[in-house]
Amino acid sequence: MGKITIKALQCGTFGLDRDALLAGAQLNVYNKNKQREWYNCPSFTYVIDHPDGKMLFDASIWRGWQKEWPQEWIDTTDYTNASDEEYFEARLKQLKLEPSDFKYVFLSHLHSDHAGNARLFAGTDAKILVHEKELTGVAQLEADGKNAHNFFLSSDYSVSGLKYTTLYGDQEIMKGIRAISLPGHTWGTMGLMIELEHCGTIILSGDSLYLADSYHTGNGAMIDNNRDEWRQSLNKIKLLQKAYDAMIIPGHDHNVIHHKCSCHPLREESKLRLWPDSLYD
Ligand SMILES: [Zn+2]
Repeated sequence: MGKITIKALQCGTFGLDRDALLAGAQLNVYNKNKQREWYNCPSFTYVIDHPDGKMLFDASIWRGWQKEWPQEWIDTTDYTNASDEEYFEARLKQLKLEPSDFKYVFLSHLHSDHAGNARLFAGTDAKILVHEKELTGVAQLEADGKNAHNFFLSSDYSVSGLKYTTLYGDQEIMKGIRAISLPGHTWGTMGLMIELEHCGTIILSGDSLYLADSYHTGNGAMIDNNRDEWRQSLNKIKLLQKAYDAMIIPGHDHNVIHHKCSCHPLREESKLRLWPDSLYD
């Protein structure tokens, strides 16, 4: 197998109530009067280099977010700390990349902090990979007039010139890069399982796990769409972790999940390696 590398890019942080990410049993119950624990939530995107082409994993937040987000999001989610050089477009420039350089844009799901910059790939040959259930899910929400309340924006994903390729379940996209279906957070949440020469198996979980604590405590997030599906997906991740001795990178946490194993230095790491300081290979 040719060499695959993963560069983890952070596109700033947004502030929000940590309970929104790790809500225990309080699914879809939000107590506005409760004392809040503020969390600086990192927004990550990953550039995966493969001998057959480049793949992007998730597309972070659109730089024009303040013009598009409904007031109720702005009230609970603060992205004003992101600096000009942290926005997704700036990160691409720092890598000397253009949207047209990508063969695939893998969207783990269509929440606005993951699909915000998909629009940049309109008119390019990049194939936008999304699970079929995610597309039917947002279409139904839109038909019901509810998408704005659920952190979906049609201006992220209903963009002419985007070339969608629908995924239906687990499948290999390029040799050594496999989409895995992890529903629960949203209808069609997916992760990627990537086999690297030196670092072994890495699973980008997307928001099927917001935080490393989601894995350890078994508590999902307030915004999760279906708690039972979420738990089944957590079990699936745990099985894959054991079977492949995989390192798992959660959706919004610098802490990663790994096996304690003295034979492999990567396993001793508990923090995400960010580009440009480092990469995974
Ligand atoms: Zn999400």
